[in-house]
Amino acid sequence: MSEVDTDLLVIGAGACGFAGAIAAHDQGISVAIVEKLARPGGNSALSTGSVPGAGSRFQRDAGIEDSPEQLVADLLATAGHHDADGLTRRMAEQSAPLVEWLIDDLGARMELVTAYKHVGHSVPRLHAPRSRRGQDLVDDLLGFVSDRGIPLAVGNPVDRLIVEDGAVKGAIVAGEPIRAAKVLVATNGFAGNREMVARWCPEIAPAEYFGALGSTGEAAAWGEELGAALGNMGAYQGYAAVAYPQGSLLSWTTIEKGGILVSANGKRFGNEDAGYSGFAPNVMGQGEMAYAVYDRRIHEIAALEEEYAELAEMGGVRWADTPEGLADHMAVDGAALAQTVAAYNAAARGAAVDAFGRAKFELAPLAAPYAIVRVKPGLFHTQGGLMVDDDARVLRPDGSVVENLFAGGGAAAGISGRSGAGGYASGNGLLTALALGRLAGLRAAQDLRG
Ligand SMILES: Cc1cc2nc3c(=O)[nH]c(=O)nc-3n(C[C@H](O)[C@H](O)[C@H](O)COP(=O)(O)OP(=O)(O)OC[C@H]3O[C@@H](n4cnc5c(N)ncnc54)[C@H](O)[C@@H]3O)c2cc1C
Repeated sequence: MSEVDTDLLVIGAGACGFAGAIAAHDQGISVAIVEKLARPGGNSALSTGSVPGAGSRFQRDAGIEDSPEQLVADLLATAGHHDADGLTRRMAEQSAPLVEWLIDDLGARMELVTAYKHVGHSVPRLHAPRSRRGQDLVDDLLGFVSDRGIPLAVGNPVDRLIVEDGAVKGAIVAGEPIRAAKVLVATNGFAGNREMVARWCPEIAPAEYFGALGSTGEAAAWGEELGAALGNMGAYQGYAAVAYPQGSLLSWTTIEKGGILVSANGKRFGNEDAGYSGFAPNVMGQGEMAYAVYDRRIHEIAALEEEYAELAEMGGVRWADTPEGLADHMAVDGAALAQTVAAYNAAARGAAVDAFGRAKFELAPLAAPYAIVRVKPGLFHTQGGLMVDDDARVLRPDGSVVENLFAGGGAAAGISGRSGAGGYASGNGLLTALALGRLAGLRAAQDLRG
């Protein structure tokens, strides 16, 4: 009998865990995945599945010029410098090979999104499932895992890591030891753990958590016990517009294409150019609900996205011929809203300076018929975690490596700034999950096979 039960033990069956498992398996080492919940997928399944690939062949085919350098510049412009600056470059360099691996080598049903660029990106570079549902990406990855015969045990939480003389030797899974030569912690962040959110990201602690239940912060807790370095612990992705009571995302396309957000008093309260994550703390200051207001032309573009189309079908979008008329559907001050729309439209026409400094108006000025959706802000996931090197190996504060331990995705320190919601660029979550997972799998195999 071998000394280990598996070469690589992957903890967590989300994008990071799947990418690590597939990459390692394809390099010839044995892999097993354990997942604490009854269903795999984690936050990855809830996401829109958008992954940046800077300089991908799909961009070249579409005539879009891009490069890792441009992605680094975009990420730095959004997030500023932070604890994991080196990782930003590494992720940018890995992004195009990553999407090509997913689509060309593995066969994921993804495409380059050209209809929108989304927050933090100067060119269209997000690659996403055609449905824009992360569940499709997860289903594809699950299929690749199953085709390879990689064992996946759901309903098996890891309680703690097995550590001997400072080196990781496996984990205690549902009370039983599993010994492994290498361990990949792919357990996501701590957004589902109220105490940890209050400790590290207090400004968003009152917001509802809209992610998967499994993100309860084990990676950071294990890291602290081990004496590993943690980084960017105050950074998180918020979402400024979760439709209420439907609980689905109001596509940010509605705002990006010219819509606005107002509070119950009918007034805007900030510059929506901050993006869906960066604007979330502004929405939180507005009492329980806020309202997105846009028009039919914008609705028609957003309706190309399945989740938005479903929200509209569920009656989440209400219509009126005048801004005042929107008050018949929602508890907003109609007269004040009419003034707000008039002032915003004047800025969009270039006849006045926008009161909040908004610079991007796209299809605005808004025109009849007008749409309104009731929204509240949400916390999606945290972006702080274990500091890792270029191969996803977990580091100590002195820069040395914790032997045999890898981390990626929400378990690792991310590339979205040191704190707050403003540093998150679209796709940062899945990029660090998939790319670090893949790098961990490759490095684990390289270490073991020599
Ligand atoms: C609504 C929403 C939309 C989003 N849209 C995007 C997007 O379009 N693009 C993007 O890049 N990011 C997006 N994100 C963020 C993105 O989903 C995450 O950053 C990413 O999925 C993290 O992947 P992961 O593999 O690290 O974690 P997950 O996918 O959450 O997987 C972690 C898994 O580990 C399991 N686990 C946890 N603890 C244990 C334990 N102790 N033992 C065993 N298993 C454990 C969990 O149950 C879970 O299944 C979105 C997030 C949300 C909530």
